Amino acid sequence: MQKRRNRKRSKRRAIYCPIHGCYIDSVSQKHRLYADKAEHLRDRGMGKRAALSVMASYTTVALEREWLEAFWCEDCQQNEWYWIAQLEDKTYRLSRIPEDLWQQAQGVILSTGNPTVSEFTRRQSRRMSYQGAKDFVMV
Ligand SMILES: [Zn+2]
Repeated sequence: MQKRRNRKRSKRRAIYCPIHGCYIDSVSQKHRLYADKAEHLRDRGMGKRAALSVMASYTTVALEREWLEAFWCEDCQQNEWYWIAQLEDKTYRLSRIPEDLWQQAQGVILSTGNPTVSEFTRRQSRRMSYQGAKDFVMV
């Protein structure tokens, strides 16, 4: 039997390894996601006209319920990055991270060792926050 590494943990969120179904421990901070194209908002349920008008007014839109985060799985014995979405009922959806989504994240270091997305940090002067299909707020 393997010794569990003792790591500080706050209350565990109900986030499980999609392969093993076991709890996984966060090993990174949350890297927030931003939309900078109308299609990013449409993908998340915003209507076409609304998405276009929002992107005409704001350079980036913070996606409040989605982020990228790395987790350690005991069974996998490795760290894995996931695209996390917090759902209405306080559960979480874990997905593989599509290549282009890295470009929408803040402060992520690519596996190539290159920092990315400084673009988003530069353009945050005019931005708003999108919390779901009906619901967005100014920040
Ligand atoms: Zn696993």
